[in-house]
Amino acid sequence: MKIFKFGGTSVGSAHNIKIIRDIVSNNIINGRLVIVVSAIGGVTDKLFELGNHAFDKNKNYKDFYHEICNFHNSIINDLFNHIDSKALIDIVQLTYVEIEIVIDEIFKTNIFSLSTQDKILSFGELLSSLIISEFFKMSQIDVFHINSQELIVTDSNFTNAQVDSIKTFKNIQKLFNIHSNRVLVLPGFVAKSTHNEITTLGRGGSDYTASILAAALNAEELQIWTDVSGMYTSNPKIVSQARPINYMSYEEALEFSHFGAKVIYPPTIQPVLSSNIPILIKNTLHPNDLGTSISNKKTINDVGVKGISNIDNIALLTLQGNGMVGVPGFSKRLFGTLSQEKINIILITQASSEHAICVAIQQNDVKVAEKAINDCFKNDINTNKLDPIIVELDLAIIAVIGDKMKSQQGVSGKMFSILGKNNVNIRAIAQGASERNISAVILKKDVKKALNSLHEIYFNDNVKQLNIFITGVGNVGKELIKQIHNQQDYLKEKLNVNLRLIGLSNSKKMHFNINGIDLDKWESSLSNGVMSSFNDFQNKVLDLNLRNSIFLDITANKDICNYYNNYLIKNIAVIACNKIACSLSFKSYEDLKRTSLKFKSPFLFETNVGAGLPILSTLNNLLLSGDEIISIEAVLSGSLNFIFNNYDGTKSFLNIIKQAKKEGYTEPDPRIDLSGIDVARKILILARESGSNINLEDIINESFIKGYDFRNDSSLDDFYNFVKLNEKYFKDMFNSSFSKNCQLKYVAEYTDDGAKIGLREISKNHPFYNLKGKDNIVLFHTKRYRDQPLIIKGAGAGASVTAAGLFADIIKVNNI
Ligand code: ADP
Ligand code: ASP
Ligand code: MG
Repeated sequence: MKIFKFGGTSVGSAHNIKIIRDIVSNNIINGRLVIVVSAIGGVTDKLFELGNHAFDKNKNYKDFYHEICNFHNSIINDLFNHIDSKALIDIVQLTYVEIEIVIDEIFKTNIFSLSTQDKILSFGELLSSLIISEFFKMSQIDVFHINSQELIVTDSNFTNAQVDSIKTFKNIQKLFNIHSNRVLVLPGFVAKSTHNEITTLGRGGSDYTASILAAALNAEELQIWTDVSGMYTSNPKIVSQARPINYMSYEEALEFSHFGAKVIYPPTIQPVLSSNIPILIKNTLHPNDLGTSISNKKTINDVGVKGISNIDNIALLTLQGNGMVGVPGFSKRLFGTLSQEKINIILITQASSEHAICVAIQQNDVKVAEKAINDCFKNDINTNKLDPIIVELDLAIIAVIGDKMKSQQGVSGKMFSILGKNNVNIRAIAQGASERNISAVILKKDVKKALNSLHEIYFNDNVKQLNIFITGVGNVGKELIKQIHNQQDYLKEKLNVNLRLIGLSNSKKMHFNINGIDLDKWESSLSNGVMSSFNDFQNKVLDLNLRNSIFLDITANKDICNYYNNYLIKNIAVIACNKIACSLSFKSYEDLKRTSLKFKSPFLFETNVGAGLPILSTLNNLLLSGDEIISIEAVLSGSLNFIFNNYDGTKSFLNIIKQAKKEGYTEPDPRIDLSGIDVARKILILARESGSNINLEDIINESFIKGYDFRNDSSLDDFYNFVKLNEKYFKDMFNSSFSKNCQLKYVAEYTDDGAKIGLREISKNHPFYNLKGKDNIVLFHTKRYRDQPLIIKGAGAGASVTAAGLFADIIKVNNI
């Protein structure tokens, strides 16, 4: 014989009840099947609310009562035609009257005791089981309704009654002998005490009812039919990549359920485990899905980590004080006190050297626990041997679970490193003695991030998600979004990386979509976004608290640099296209680098020098491998190179500047390029990355535009006017160089002695001579590259190469 249990959603509507009728019909063997049902989905909560409304003297409490009756009536109406439901309606009406008597009593007496709570909650299962059994009858199934309250005997621990197995098993066996060849429908969750009081087995207890029946009848199998396709690798409502686990041992199932996998109520496992009855978890809405099978079958190909579970609403209690050192008995008194108050301890940590014990309990129990412990240790607290108990709230427990974890190395190392990497602060750690479970207490707000990041590393055939936030969508930003869009599928396939753009902002608006912004429509989404500021954007990114987050600054703004640190300390990688942060004071550059190192948050800015060219990464690789920089010589301005490569006096110097700006080679204000400040910043960054403690004002900048003060705040048009008036000066400059067979190049140089920038006449035999268009070139003279410098050359400006450089930084973050 098999026992089937259908949960709240499975019986949650007329439609679903018809589905379970078909499941039941297909599984009756020799006329036999035992069916345990939960209350119709949501009804138990509603009954509890109803009791509370009556208790709160809410005058409208009868409205809630009628709502519950109407909800059941509408399901009855959908299932039956009028004549068939007559007998059912009579009995259901009687139940409604009973409910009304209970709530009127609560309203009148203003007492809502736990025993009354059990009385009122029990009506949910009584009603659903009556409706379902009548519906089965109408569907020509030979069914008999049995009230479990007549079978399951408990103590009087209301709301969480303990079952008297001996009496209960006897009752079940006796009754089932009489009805051995029928389909039996029973309410789950409900029971009666030895004093004939109505009790319940705890929230979620219908699973337990079914398990008790299975054990008492020595059933062939217990099937739990629910709204998911089995026990998942993590709660599917929190981890979208979670997937059903086809097989697990009883012990693993116990760990999962104990650590929050609501799909099985924890006490359910014990009765079937003792009798070695397998459990199968199935999805009512997808009955063909395999589901999860739970038994003690030995498996060979089992993986180490089976899944990651979580329990929310946890509080941590810490008992500490010098008086605890070397004095036995403190833990015993602590645990004894909690046990007396019937408070369940979920996790304990105590280091042998430390004079502190930490226990995790449900947050609901905190008030009672705090008072009881402080009372119990009153004398020790008054004599300063102990501190009053320390309470921390709003925590959660996450647990990595698997029978075979003990034979796999590095499970906990991986766990804590990935949590650290994602800025998940760990308050306490415990490892089960059987090594089947490693648990950590973390902040409740971090649960989603923690579960998802752990899931990504333990189930690495899964796709890793990178969550991108971009500020600045000018030419480069737009191009980057286009490249991300084009590459998304490829990256998923080749690197198992899902690149999602979550947040976007320009100087006016910002837009976020936690599921990823649709990259076909990002422009309209952004223009319909909300007002933005650097601060609001950052707050939103931090609030979202997503794993593997990367912030990209694609602006040329100075103020935004003040926010980098805040991202880095929250373990959000920063990728800067903006050069300002790395060229501000040496101290602020160094602080950012240090924060990045301390929090292990990548801070990458490859595109600061030479756009997409691998200049900084090459420099870093040289230094990391033990090379030493002797000097760096470079042409680092794509725009200046473009200007001097194109200027030969036939078109005016002003026209060439405007062309360079139009084609996107210059900064939005071309004076930043022409003054040399942009090149100065680049050589400064190269010098700093080479290990030099240097500032922008230390760089010798010999301006080639004499007579114009770049520090004044005249308009761009004034500047253009100045250039126009001085055309002869620029032409003379060109002619002088041309007459010597030289090319004009704007060169940056760095040696141990310092750095300088300026326009140089470059002769034919120099590697810079043939530099074309907007290309950049860098010569690294190093200890290893002494005779011939290491040369990096290529397009050093332009939206598409810069975007590609940013893209490369994103991929680098993924690989770190
Ligand atoms: P029922 O009403 O059928 O008893 P429950 O709501 O009690 O169903 O349990 C099923 C729910 O358990 C799922 O909808 C899911 O949200 C939750 N759950 C939590 N952790 C897990 C997990 N690891 N695997 C499957 N479900 C889980
Ligand atoms: N109806 C009860 C509850 O919601 C018992 C159950 O569904 O298992 O907790
Ligand atoms: Mg349940």
